[in-house]
Amino acid sequence: MLHLPVVFSNKAFTKEVSPFLMFDYGAPKEFPAARSSKRRGVGQHPHRGFETVTIALQGEIQHRDSIGNSGIIGPGECQWMTAGRGIVHEEFHSEDFTRLGGIFEMCQIWVNLPKKYKMNDPKYQDLKTKDIPCVPLKIHNERTDVRRDVSTAMKDGYAKVFAGSFDGSDGPAATFTPINIWVVTMLSTEKEFEFDFIEGYTTLIFVTKGGIVIEGKTLNMADAALMNREGTSIVLKPTEIGTSILILSGKPIDEPIAARGPFVMNSQQELIDSMQDYQRGRNGFSHF
Ligand code: MN
Repeated sequence: MLHLPVVFSNKAFTKEVSPFLMFDYGAPKEFPAARSSKRRGVGQHPHRGFETVTIALQGEIQHRDSIGNSGIIGPGECQWMTAGRGIVHEEFHSEDFTRLGGIFEMCQIWVNLPKKYKMNDPKYQDLKTKDIPCVPLKIHNERTDVRRDVSTAMKDGYAKVFAGSFDGSDGPAATFTPINIWVVTMLSTEKEFEFDFIEGYTTLIFVTKGGIVIEGKTLNMADAALMNREGTSIVLKPTEIGTSILILSGKPIDEPIAARGPFVMNSQQELIDSMQDYQRGRNGFSHF
């Protein structure tokens, strides 16, 4: 296990974290009620060659893009945007959140696409609370022949499955390569929790609340860990009741990574082509 004190640190855009590219975290921050209707966020900008996965942890995020999609997500919900060959989008606080103010916390994961899908049509998925399975956690060393009922098991902790599968429950995201994204909440400090993985996958853990002890190390809020690819399970213990972590796991994509600004391709020439296409409004890039 490698402790990454700043999210992804110097591992961003390397094969070591593939299929993930980058992870951006906005720690909880209080925004006052707005005096004007000016929205806060990032205006129209392009992407190509990968996916942006945005999770609202607190507050509301509003998305609009050049293929006509728009959506608002609240706490625990996710916007999964496939840039493919080209999209232009904007990312703002929602109008309600801007007007009312409150605490805002979010993260955005950049997920790479294999070469054969980089020039696909762009696509957008809203993952709303009603579509996201909530599954009790597995307790390390618990007897499996006396499985507790679900409501009792939920009292120890649960995983919300955005993508992939957790203990037989599938998340709603359609992905191009095998990816698991789970948001995990642990409600007991007496127990150790076990998470199962596929050997050879990249696994990253990010602490959004509280802390955990894993492989003898303590990780606190905003710490990340990159796990070894050997082995099929990890065991961890929260240091506080209500500790919350994000677990990202996925099959590495064994292809060259060329990244510049909002584009992630396989070669420098493809990055140059991407910039030209964007400037000329070609191949999916258009303002809205
Ligand atoms: Mn963006």
